[in-house]
Amino acid sequence: ESFDEECDYLFKAVLIGDSAVGKSNLLSRFAKNEFCLESKPTIGVEFAYRNIRVGDKLIKAQIWDTAGQERFRAITSSYYRGALGALLVYDITRKSTFESLKKWLKEVREFGSRELVVVLVGNKSDLAQYREVNLEDGRSLAQLEDLSFMETSAKENLNVEEAFLQMITRIYQLS
Ligand code: GDP
Repeated sequence: ESFDEECDYLFKAVLIGDSAVGKSNLLSRFAKNEFCLESKPTIGVEFAYRNIRVGDKLIKAQIWDTAGQERFRAITSSYYRGALGALLVYDITRKSTFESLKKWLKEVREFGSRELVVVLVGNKSDLAQYREVNLEDGRSLAQLEDLSFMETSAKENLNVEEAFLQMITRIYQLS
């Protein structure tokens, strides 16, 4: 879809999760179909757009990336303001990023809107040989917290589209 096409809805969604879990690469994969092996050095909020057709409606999703702010615990309520969805990301090869999810969920509930749609994402599924978090652990947590869940690989472009679309479709259904 072209950037300038008239859209029916504009949704804001945010990416959250520990540093280096792959948030930026998930976003660039979804928005531009690009992947980058370097961790980006930039600091500051960034966002990207993508237009998605759901039924006969054209939705413009504006997706925000923390761009490194989580390293300084500097994510504030303004990051969440107006967001209708969040992709909560951990890295399946680093257990600590899974253990942080409790903290992230607490923050989401504190700063996010009440109807915020959260999709839990275990990224780097291409690195299964280094796995520290089982698929079942992700599934159980999602079930417990009533979230959608999937494992993705931004590198191999596995399930990335599905994760974002799941979030966006759900937002649309609730709106
Ligand atoms: P962020 O800090 O959460 O935004 O993480 P980045 O997107 O900057 O990614 C951190 C590092 O993990 C970079 O070196 C990426 O190339 C790498 N990375 C991100 N996603 C994947 C993935 O799905 N598979 C693999 N193997 N590496 C990934």
